[in-house]
Amino acid sequence: MTERKNDPNPVAQIIVTRTLQTSGAALLALAGLRAALPPERFRPLAGIGGLLVAGGLSAYFAATFSPRTPLGGVPLVCRLPVEAGAVVALTFDDGPHPETTPRLLDVLAAHDAHATFFVVGENAARFPGLVRRIVAGGHAVGIHGLRHETMVLQSATRAAADLRAARHIIANAAGFADPAAAVRLFRPPYGFKTATLCRTAARLGLVTVAWSRDPRDYDLVSANEVRARLAARLRAGDIVLLHERPDALHTLNALPDVLKDAATRGLKSVALETNGF
Ligand SMILES: [Zn+2]
Repeated sequence: MTERKNDPNPVAQIIVTRTLQTSGAALLALAGLRAALPPERFRPLAGIGGLLVAGGLSAYFAATFSPRTPLGGVPLVCRLPVEAGAVVALTFDDGPHPETTPRLLDVLAAHDAHATFFVVGENAARFPGLVRRIVAGGHAVGIHGLRHETMVLQSATRAAADLRAARHIIANAAGFADPAAAVRLFRPPYGFKTATLCRTAARLGLVTVAWSRDPRDYDLVSANEVRARLAARLRAGDIVLLHERPDALHTLNALPDVLKDAATRGLKSVALETNGF
């Protein structure tokens, strides 16, 4: 098992990177002010303005990650409907990978459990046989971007083109004749989403799926820690955010115990419905 505890948290890393990138516009505005104001008035303004802009942008990008951020009426699925009963939906992002997907499928099959795989278009193109195996196992497959890059700063046109391309690749790999009818679920890469992105997905007939339970397995903690973070907290209706990574097998190693713990509490893992919520 590979465990690297010193890796930076990718979510925090992206928030910082995006903040720095978009601060460029603020710097240009400050440069304009500098030309217009005498230096003694400009200096304090530059310091406070810079902090406010950086803080505001950081808060904005952090909000795009939270499943609780309102999206102006655009539907976002975070939980299973109450009528689904005593079930949870485990979801695995970032695959498929030859080192992890077959092993996850074996563990799920051994526990008579089903899950949803949010796959990256590029990975699906490289490993179409794995997408077929996911579907053949009775699991759901959704889109996790064409590439594993955040889509929140893309134009709606670019995002739509990426989503269409990813859907086409995934449907082809799975052997579905009609991509639009068969691939209906979307989880934005890194979980970063905006109302524009979710609305763009909805126009293509895609349901954007977040989560209600995040054990933060992207932190590269031990398998025991992943299990502990879920064990006491799992509730009926939860959609659980998990990842498959060939370089870090903690989630894969935790899965048998996570499924046992869920069964002990009368909860079964099911694939997300692909025909809408
Ligand atoms: Zn991801």
